[in-house]
Amino acid sequence: MALDKNWFTEIEEEIQSAFSLKVRKKLHEEQSAFQKIEVYETEGFGHLLVIDGFTMVSTRDNFLYHEMMTHPVLFTHPDPKRVAIIGGGDCGSLREVLRHPGVEHCVQIDIDERVTRVSEQFFPELCEANDDPRAELLFIDGIQWMKDAEPNSLDVIIVDSTDPIGPGEVLFSTEFYAACHRALGEDGLIVQQSESPLAHLPILERMYRSYRAAGFRAVQTLFFPQPIYPTGWWSATIGGKADSLPGFREADARDKPFATRYYNAEIHRAAFAQPEFFREAVASWR
Ligand code: SAM
Repeated sequence: MALDKNWFTEIEEEIQSAFSLKVRKKLHEEQSAFQKIEVYETEGFGHLLVIDGFTMVSTRDNFLYHEMMTHPVLFTHPDPKRVAIIGGGDCGSLREVLRHPGVEHCVQIDIDERVTRVSEQFFPELCEANDDPRAELLFIDGIQWMKDAEPNSLDVIIVDSTDPIGPGEVLFSTEFYAACHRALGEDGLIVQQSESPLAHLPILERMYRSYRAAGFRAVQTLFFPQPIYPTGWWSATIGGKADSLPGFREADARDKPFATRYYNAEIHRAAFAQPEFFREAVASWR
């Protein structure tokens, strides 16, 4: 059945599939210096942010992504105080990071200020921590910022980037990960969204190889649902400097002093369970 013009559709070329949301109207469209930014009002998913034709954030399901990009890595690090987010212009990850009372400073570096300004207008709930005194928002290239970062100056790096095409491509390179490795302390951890395990294994393979080439000896992927992204099944991949990741601070996760909608200690444990095909694939990337 063909969809009429009232549907937004994202086509996933890799596995020739598509995802559609019925829209009431287009609320915003602009070409920034870096990318095309659109916002739709949908029938069932609230507002939808689209960059260069790709779905980024919806009101209904963004909590899955933002909670899983932040709380697993923050509860895995023994004592995260200094956090950097590369990309993340919608500010949802920043809000989740700042829920952790131990975090003293979180700097978000997104190349495109327009993404944040548009998010402030159409996703104000994601931007509610932007005025937190621990938050710093920079609008410059995250790759250059990371190259210039002081060695040993960060505990956690969250790479909340677009897909590895366009301005986000270098964010998946060994050179960028090496700069992250340098900027992190001994216990430091990096996490990056790593696409769909069902559709994008070649991207995951490249990430694993590049993380390791940059010096991250422990590499582990966690999984979560994400209805608006291709296949609906998404992942994030953590890298650490030691041979294996430390066990997570389970008691702290159980007693977390803030509410979440998806993340909890059981979800944390389950998210790191490795499906058989994925375990085999990772073994072949050694
Ligand atoms: N949740 C989204 C997803 O996985 O599809 C990603 C969200 S976020 C809106 C991605 C951000 O990365 C965009 O705002 C974009 O401007 C930013 N970005 C792309 N390349 C960048 C770079 N080199 N430095 C900093 N930010 C960058």
